[in-house]
Amino acid sequence: MAVMTHTQNRPSSVDYRDLTAAQQDRLTQILELADDTSDSGEYNSLMLGVAALAGIHIERGGEVLRCSCTCVCPAVFENTRDARTVEASLFNLPIRQCPLCADRHPAEDLD
Ligand SMILES: [Zn+2]
Ligand SMILES: [Zn+2]
Repeated sequence: MAVMTHTQNRPSSVDYRDLTAAQQDRLTQILELADDTSDSGEYNSLMLGVAALAGIHIERGGEVLRCSCTCVCPAVFENTRDARTVEASLFNLPIRQCPLCADRHPAEDLD
């Protein structure tokens, strides 16, 4: 019997500029809906939608964010502890640097 191994064969980060204009519009739209919703189930579903659109694999309950770094980074990434909070968020979506930016030029830590 084959043993199922959990392999990460999709990236945890993609370049926003690699998406088509239509995909970029859709991604922005879904992120706005996720930012505004007051329903955590809907939030999780929208996050899965963003992940599918970007081609990133996340588990239910995971988050996909656009990098909010001041370097105008094009990363769309899975939110992990390697990302870094740039600014306190008033809505649902955390405002964070992607892990690469957090590593290269970390913002003042707000976590
Ligand atoms: Zn970044
Ligand atoms: Zn950066």
